Amino acid sequence: MDDRHDDIRQSVRALCAGYPGEYWRALDRERAYPAEFVRALTEAGFLGALIPEEYGGSGLGIGAAAAILEEIHKSGGNGAACHAQMYIMGTILRHGSAQQKSRWLPAIARGELCLQAFGVTEPTSGTDTLSLRTTAVRDGDRYVINGQKVWTSRAEHSDLMLLLARTTPKDQVKRRGDGLSVFVVDMRAALGHGMTIRPIRTMMNHATTEVFFDDLAVPAENLIGEEGKGFRYVLDGMNAERILIAAECVGDARWFIEKATAYAKERRVFDRSIGQNQGVQFPIARAYAATEAADLMVKRAAARFEAGEPAGPDANMAKLLAADASWQAADMCVQVHGGFGFAEEYDIERKFREARLYQVAPISTNLILAYIAEHVLGLPRSY
Ligand SMILES: Cc1cc2nc3c(=O)[nH]c(=O)nc-3n(C[C@H](O)[C@H](O)[C@H](O)COP(=O)(O)OP(=O)(O)OC[C@H]3O[C@@H](n4cnc5c(N)ncnc54)[C@H](O)[C@@H]3O)c2cc1C
Repeated sequence: MDDRHDDIRQSVRALCAGYPGEYWRALDRERAYPAEFVRALTEAGFLGALIPEEYGGSGLGIGAAAAILEEIHKSGGNGAACHAQMYIMGTILRHGSAQQKSRWLPAIARGELCLQAFGVTEPTSGTDTLSLRTTAVRDGDRYVINGQKVWTSRAEHSDLMLLLARTTPKDQVKRRGDGLSVFVVDMRAALGHGMTIRPIRTMMNHATTEVFFDDLAVPAENLIGEEGKGFRYVLDGMNAERILIAAECVGDARWFIEKATAYAKERRVFDRSIGQNQGVQFPIARAYAATEAADLMVKRAAARFEAGEPAGPDANMAKLLAADASWQAADMCVQVHGGFGFAEEYDIERKFREARLYQVAPISTNLILAYIAEHVLGLPRSY
């Protein structure tokens, strides 16, 4: 099996060469969306990588998708503007009806429809997803949605949203995970008719928003799978998300390590290259070792996921180790560059801000540790 995906990596690198540091820097300053880059990726078919060929996608596995995202980040770019277009559709693919699949998947594969907004997190419930308060109440052939989401990324650049809402009150369900349902919301129809989007400016250029629902009507035919089973459907997709974001972290780490190594060789202080000092080279070597280890875990998680085996522990560990490796490499890279690590034109401070996110989202480090403790090691549930 070609687990390196050399051809795909080469094509992504060639595409990314057209979007150098200057491009990302200018967008970062304005907190603007990389529309041109996303269009180029879409036209090249990369964002339809995981959609089966029968629906017009490339039918590739998660390992190939991970390679695409790793290369984007290794080139100095950022896939967060569109990575969700790759995996959110997985919930429709795995749990949607035949009619729903043929209605949405081919248009997503062609890039005519963007499904890259995922409404789970809410301001009051945070990580405690089962306590979310947005409700969907059945009313004839539609559901009426009320509530609020926060950190719904790319909502302003998406035609559709995958929304998790409560259909049965928490105190009336038989099992903890029951009572939540997943809907596809047509955001073009919803905007101004029960749905409002408010952008949130963040420390890095990340098109994220708050979304408010006020008696928004969603056709009942947009319910995915069975009512009340949505939490389980969404959990399925989260392993894919963790593997792909871990691959982005590996790409970021490799970018930082390459920058730091080149600079350590070239920068001369006290008549010697700074990289001649062990105090400079050891942190680079340590970041490199951590990144290679994280990459192995990403590949193992991807292989398990592709084989249809339970991938939860590996996907979580991949995300944990890769987020740690990228943050370690980011900190090291600033240190190796001394004062220049803070200068905008080096791109390091931008990537440093971007790399910080993955200690918190899409799931925080603590919650991964709690998962490993409880579900892998059998320790008591801590929350
Ligand atoms: C830029 C950005 C983009 C995002 N995009 C999306 C998106 O598109 N869709 C979406 O639904 N969400 C999105 N999120 C939300 C993200 O998934 C959450 O921020 C993340 O899951 C943490 O939830 P929270 O912010 O509510 O933190 P909280 O749940 O309030 O937690 C705060 C801190 O407490 C810690 N903590 C909480 N409970 C425990 C516990 N039991 N044990 C130990 N530590 C604990 C957490 O680890 C965290 O460090 C995004 C967030 C950001 C910042």
